[in-house]
Amino acid sequence: MLDPEHEAMKREAEREQERERRLDAEYEWQLRRKRPKYDDGDYFCAVCDEPWDAYGVRIALKGEVSDMTKDEAEKFMKGEGCPCCPKP
Ligand SMILES: [Zn+2]
Repeated sequence: MLDPEHEAMKREAEREQERERRLDAEYEWQLRRKRPKYDDGDYFCAVCDEPWDAYGVRIALKGEVSDMTKDEAEKFMKGEGCPCCPKP
């Protein structure tokens, strides 16, 4: 039989776990939200909404000559902006 103090600690730990699960879910959602939107053959920059030819982005990711470099394409697909983004 558990004493009341122990019960309270257990509930507290469960609340903490629940809070962490919610934070994880929120973080996942933020990551997904930040991805460039795809529409009709174009990806739209997650930061400045500039449209980029999806084929161009895909070949850039493979390291082929395109309108952005491989590094830029990787950043772009993570939602970190494109070469056209206004610099901060
Ligand atoms: Zn951009």
